[in-house]
Parts: sequence; C-alpha cells; structure tokens
Amino acid sequence: MGTIEGRKPRVVLVPFPYQGHITPMLQLGAILNSRGFSITVAHTEFHSPNPSEHPEFIFLPLPDNLSGCETSYINSLNGISAMNTNSLARFHDFMVEMLEMQEQHGQVACIVYDTLMHFVDEVATRLELPTVALRPNSAAYLRSQHVISQLQADNLIPLPESQLQDAIPTHHLLRFKDLPFPVNAEIPNILLDFFTSYANIRSSSAIIWNTVDMLDHESLTKLQQHYKVPIFPIGPFHKMAPIFNTSLITEDTNSISWLDKQAPNSVIYISIGSIAIMDKKELIEMAWGLANCNQPFLWVVRPSSVSGSEWIECLPEGFEEMTRERGCIVKWAPQKKVLAHPAVGGFWSHSGWNSTLESMCEGVPMICRPYFSDQVVNTRYLTHVWKVALQLENNPERRGIEKAIRTLMGDKEGKEMRQRALKMKQELELSIRRGGSSWNSLENLVEFIMSFTQ
Ligand code: UDP
Repeated sequence: MGTIEGRKPRVVLVPFPYQGHITPMLQLGAILNSRGFSITVAHTEFHSPNPSEHPEFIFLPLPDNLSGCETSYINSLNGISAMNTNSLARFHDFMVEMLEMQEQHGQVACIVYDTLMHFVDEVATRLELPTVALRPNSAAYLRSQHVISQLQADNLIPLPESQLQDAIPTHHLLRFKDLPFPVNAEIPNILLDFFTSYANIRSSSAIIWNTVDMLDHESLTKLQQHYKVPIFPIGPFHKMAPIFNTSLITEDTNSISWLDKQAPNSVIYISIGSIAIMDKKELIEMAWGLANCNQPFLWVVRPSSVSGSEWIECLPEGFEEMTRERGCIVKWAPQKKVLAHPAVGGFWSHSGWNSTLESMCEGVPMICRPYFSDQVVNTRYLTHVWKVALQLENNPERRGIEKAIRTLMGDKEGKEMRQRALKMKQELELSIRRGGSSWNSLENLVEFIMSFTQ
C-alpha cells in the first residue's frame, strides 16, 4: 500500500449500535482524529449517532431493517445477526468506492470494529484491508466470557449451587457467582453464541481496549498470551478524547442547574445506564429508600426502564411532595458532567463499564446494583479489588437501600471508600499523561496504524 501524498490516512470505524458501545467508538474516533487520522463512521440506521456533533467525521448509514427494535438486552442479541446480514452488501460497496477514491479521501489505513459487527471481517478479508478490534469493556470481562465458554465445553454447566462462592481457579479475583450470567442454570444458546462470537477477533491485527493497565493488568497479560496480537489499552477514552456529546437520548441540562444549588459531596446520583430494566417493585423500593434516607438525590429514570411503565407513573403516592426539596428526577442526564460536579458525593449505578470508568475518573465512590453481563464482573472489581464501592443485593429492599446510602454518604466505611476513589482518580490521571501507560500505548497504536500505510 503506498502513502497518498498530502492526505491524512483514514480510519473507518464500525460501532455496535448501543450507547455503551457507540460512545467509546466515537471517542476513539476523536482520539485518532486528534492524532492526524481522518475518520469515517459506518453505522446502522438504528441508534444512529448524531453527525452534527462530529462535523469532522464522515458518516455512512448502513441499512439494518431494525427500526422500532426494542432496546432490551436479549432483543439486541437477536438483532445482531440481522444487522450483520443487512449491512454487509452496502458496507462492501462503500469500501470499494472508498478504495477507488483514496486520492480524494485519503488512504484507508484500517477498519476498527466492534467484534459484534462481524460482517466487517468478511468485507475486509475480501478487500485485503487490515482490521483492528475494539473492546469497549474491561479485559476482566472478556476473560470471564472465556471461563463460561470453557465450563460449557467441559460440560460443567449447570454448576452445583455449593460451588458458586468458590474462587475461579483461572480468574481468581472472581467467584463463580461473579460470572456475567448465572452458571448454576442452563445458559441459553443465544448467549453462548454471543460469547463465542464476541470473543472472536477473527483476522484482526490488534485489539484496542477502553481500559487502563493499572485496572486490568492481570487480565490484559493473560489475554495477550491468548490472542497473540498487539494489545493497546488506551483508556479511559473519555479522558483521552476532547469532550463532546455522544448521547442517543436528549440530555436534561436542568440536572446541572439543580446540582449547582446543592452542597458539596451531598448528592447521590442514580442511573442504571441505557439497557437495564427493573420491575415496578424495585422502583418503589428505591423510592422509599431515597425518601427515608434524607439525602439529596439526582435520579435518572430512563423512559421504559421500568417494565410495564412509560416513565415514573408508578412512584408511590406522596413521594414527589415528600422529596421535592431535595430530589430531582430526569429522563437522561449529562452523566460525565454530573459525576464531575462537586455536589455529587456518590453514584448508585448498574456498574456498566463506561459508568464505572466515568465514576472512578472523578473519584466518586459507588453503590453497585448490577443486573447482568459485565455489570456483575465490574461490581466484583469495584467492591473487592479496587474497594471503591459497596454492593446492593439483587431485588434490594428499602431498608437495605437506606442503609447503603447512609454508609456511602456518611459513615467511616464510606469515607474510606471516598479516599480510595480519590487516590484512584489521581492514578488514572497519571496513566493518561505523557509517559503514563495509556499515553504510551496510544503512541504505539498511532505508529501501528501508520505502518499499514507504508
Ligand atoms: N449515560 C448518560 N446519561 C444518563 C445515563 C447514562 O449520558 O442519564 C451514559 C453514561 O455516561 C455512559 C453510558 O450512558 O457513558 C452508559 O454506558 P455503560 O457502559 O455504563 O452502561 P450500558 O448503558 O452499556 O449498560
């Protein structure tokens, strides 16, 4: 491949269309753009990113026939094969055009893709283009998927209940009960296929990771031995990239003006991310826990995140009057700004990976209420490895919630967690500065991608 004079090399990005995956892909685009690459984003029409937020990128919509698809986790798994089938031809034709127009648009250095969009590998192989896999979640999570695949291959699922508390010999910071899905029951084939497909980097020449060596060192080392291609942990992306909005839902900016009126470190911020769903009983228990703890709160209740409800119509009668002076409920918040706000003292989270990184980067200790998948693994690390969070059990009740909030926001244990979280924040800042692990890794990545243009 010859370098095309006077044109920046181009990287084509293909995200998986869910908030927790699109955000890091766009952030990666901004990071690479700031390092001299032109960026094209090939995206499904479903959950399309907003091109006006990224005028410097070229956007290519791919047909997916998924409009109206519900955003539940299992539905997203069902949608994966449809996306892969429906997007392939358009993506292929687009890449052919792009290769023909390299004089005008810059040489295509490589395609970076989310491994759930595996049609990319087929197109890239046909056109002899290099690919790089992007992992938007932790290395520990990918290892936990390997554990499940191995248990399945060894015919050990369902595992006896009595073994769930045991440490996993090949992933000793986790217990069997910390795996992304319960292994004491049969695991549906759709999930097993998902793990296999997601873990498969196909012909990728390298892996880019939205993680940090200090958080994930052991897993990165193990996975390096497994995948045998260069690994570039250059996270946290949101601190490496210029700030911009990647939300698929409109952010309610009243959250910030409301926070401006609150005392430092007084507010508990609550959000369960973009996919998790709770039942009405849990919403009601949360409401009573919040009403009884007397702590100011900013609560994101995403529309349709309570099964059988459109929004907050099933809150207990009197709740809004009772908490009007110290509570604010919104549909979607500018989360990174919220977590960086001095009024926020704690984050009650589902422990998605982006939320985990965003909270740790601001030194905010957490209450974890994981629902499924990597949230369970992240929770174990947050509570027992980094020790910056406490965990609420599944189906939490009002007394447990009240106690957890009081512990996090008030007592000695909470103060110790805050100290550790602040220390973690400083260490994460060092990793992205010149000479830090993510900084160095990014330097190497830029050199690696440039080598495709020689
Ligand atoms: N988020 C947001 N506003 C909200 C709730 C979430 O901007 O009100 C963002 C959050 O900052 C994070 C993403 O949505 O970047 C959620 O990703 P995560 O990996 O934490 O969880 P997922 O949604 O994938 O379960």
